[in-house]
Amino acid sequence: MKCVICKNGETQEGFTTVTLEKNGSTVVFKEVPAQICDNCGEKYINSFITKELLKKARTIVKNGAEVDIRKYETAA
Ligand SMILES: [Zn+2]
Repeated sequence: MKCVICKNGETQEGFTTVTLEKNGSTVVFKEVPAQICDNCGEKYINSFITKELLKKARTIVKNGAEVDIRKYETAA
């Protein structure tokens, strides 16, 4: 799709790292599938994955981790 930020680039399938901060805890997800603009680098993560990330982050924060870095894995 066309990038809505720079209006020049086309997005490509790729992977990105997402950092979420909540209540003083930092959760980092690596290898999150995303569409990435080949011009400005803007990342588009679909709403299903965003929801999954927030859900996972909530669980991790509840378990008391201050910093947690993990690979994003799609639920099988
Ligand atoms: Zn762009």
